[in-house]
Amino acid sequence: MAGHLGDLRLSEAISLLSQTGQIQLDDAAEPDVQLVQRIIDGLCELSSLDALTGLANVRQFRMALDQELDRVSRGGSPMALLMIDADHFKSINDTYGHVTGDIVLQAIAQCLRDNMRPMDTLARYGGEEFAAILPNCLPQHALRAADRFRVRVEAKEIVLPDGQTVHVTVSVGVVGVTAWRDSDAKSLIASADRQLYEAKRAGRNCVVMEPTSATGVSGSEKSALLSANMQAKDE
Ligand code: GH3
Ligand code: MG
Ligand code: MG
Repeated sequence: MAGHLGDLRLSEAISLLSQTGQIQLDDAAEPDVQLVQRIIDGLCELSSLDALTGLANVRQFRMALDQELDRVSRGGSPMALLMIDADHFKSINDTYGHVTGDIVLQAIAQCLRDNMRPMDTLARYGGEEFAAILPNCLPQHALRAADRFRVRVEAKEIVLPDGQTVHVTVSVGVVGVTAWRDSDAKSLIASADRQLYEAKRAGRNCVVMEPTSATGVSGSEKSALLSANMQAKDE
């Protein structure tokens, strides 16, 4: 067995993982099953996390969203999807430089993470944009939670390495998802993005929720969506 493992080309994976401290270079001398498992675990982690913030990356976010939508469509409790974008971030880079911009992004990520529940998924969706999945969350609670995240970021004093302090705000788009809503991940993300756009248009540093998320749906719409959901699952 050890001979077979010794034939595996592990060196590239080991040197990659040694950069993150997950594995020591001299571990490679005698590869065993435990080492191979640690390499697999380490590579899985690397491919699911965002390098700058340590949050979930887009790949991990999509997986979590699909799982969560599946759960909701089977009659599970509602969830909410949030798109959160830093306001006027270009001016942070222009004023302090890109390296400091990265520190500010890390601080925003930390602040959002600190204010979410362990069951929530927070991802870095792109440059200065984050996405959050809030499972088990009624639309009205999602709106309140989103506003709390916004307020906490606004209140946070970000201290730079040279002692200067920076303040930043975020705009948030929110979509609530109940078992009665017939939506795929793509259209939900598009809708949350539209709400985010509205929040930017409304002046930034605010939260906009998709109007239909909060109003609920009628009994006949629920029946129509339920049969559509069941048909989709049968296919
Ligand atoms: P808005 O309020 O409309 O969102 O304005 P904005 O300036 O935040 O948006 P815009 O899309 O014009 O610019 C985004 C900026 O975010 C520009 C880009 O350089 C910066 N950015 C994106 N990713 C990173 C990153 O990883 N690090 C740093 N430092 N800056 C980034
Ligand atoms: Mg922005
Ligand atoms: Mg953006």
